[in-house]
Amino acid sequence: MIFTTPRARFSFTTSRRGKRMISLNGYNYYQVRVNGRRSRWACSTHHRNGCRAAIKTVDDVIVFINEDHQGIH
Ligand SMILES: [Zn+2]
Repeated sequence: MIFTTPRARFSFTTSRRGKRMISLNGYNYYQVRVNGRRSRWACSTHHRNGCRAAIKTVDDVIVFINEDHQGIH
């Protein structure tokens, strides 16, 4: 499924381990926390480098995007 929001184009994918991920603007985000219908997703591409980029969703709808992939340089 491909979703288009005013700010970004993203899709839900599944990792090789079977976990849900979000692909957004060329970056992959993995689910780090679930709280009822709300989920928080963190950048998996640079996470080990302290990347702060993150996504929040409610009912699989993106309600917050932080695409700050800087700070890794
Ligand atoms: Zn990142």
